[in-house]
Amino acid sequence: MKQLVILSGKGGTGKTTVAAALAHLASEELPIVLADADVDAANLELVLDPVKQEEHPFIGGKLAAIDPELCTACGVCASVCRFDAIIAGDVAYQVDSLACEGCASCFYQCPDEAICMEEQQAGVWFRSETRFGPLFHAHLFAGQENSGKLVTLVKQQARLRGLDTDAKLVVVDGPPGIGCPVISASAGMDLALHVVEPTVSGAHDLERIMGTTDHFGVPSLVVINKADLNPKRADDTAAFCAARGIEVVGRIPYDNIVTEAMVQGLPVTAYTDGAVSAALRHVWVQMKARLFSDDVSRRKG
Ligand code: SF4
Ligand code: SF4
Repeated sequence: MKQLVILSGKGGTGKTTVAAALAHLASEELPIVLADADVDAANLELVLDPVKQEEHPFIGGKLAAIDPELCTACGVCASVCRFDAIIAGDVAYQVDSLACEGCASCFYQCPDEAICMEEQQAGVWFRSETRFGPLFHAHLFAGQENSGKLVTLVKQQARLRGLDTDAKLVVVDGPPGIGCPVISASAGMDLALHVVEPTVSGAHDLERIMGTTDHFGVPSLVVINKADLNPKRADDTAAFCAARGIEVVGRIPYDNIVTEAMVQGLPVTAYTDGAVSAALRHVWVQMKARLFSDDVSRRKG
């Protein structure tokens, strides 16, 4: 079973459009499993029309809590907390849950064992069924941390499902950017497809995100979205990729039909056979060749 992650250095490049189209095209030929690793703003479900089968809490970490019955107001916890998360109350001390980082220093230092570390639900994750295969996705609650941990969980669940069902491919719609969730999404993948726009910032973002995938030894391919809006920049991006030995597997033209398809809740390749769909079908053929060639296996060691 192979694992493919679709990435972009920032949001709004068309990453999910590409991911949904590849999910559609791949599912016509192979049993696949899908994972939406953009846990801060999951939107693959907008075009896959998933039916939820399971819902599970995601425990992001622990926060300190003080039992006022046991607290003797000695102030030790406030003195050891480096995040100013402990407030002196009238009788007992209290924890400011918004400031607490869960380091547990107070827990270990309290002489009266008045502090416990309580698990905190930071989000939910789901297993859903779609017309293209099972989808694992999640929702991280607002202001919660540990999105990288939730990305890893979603990926693991998708991989386990794939192994259980003898799927041939896991398609991961990665989070945008280059932060912790992207690192989590990239680790262990067989191939990364970078979706980039033909802009100065797009090229800059591509260079930065490739630093991440290169670090994890994940081979990269690039697709230039809306390439016809700035052919010169698209050529510059292609030259940058060529200089690094990275193959550009497609140039997708700009077309309002993509938005139309999204409004209808469909991947563009399931909505129309126009130029955009043709470009995406070409991308899938290139990806398939790379994913299932011996070359990828050798590079993964
Ligand atoms: S260290 Fe323990 S007993 Fe002292 S103020 Fe903090 S919670 Fe209360
Ligand atoms: S767990 Fe750490 S951050 Fe939270 S209140 Fe205790 S010492 Fe402060």
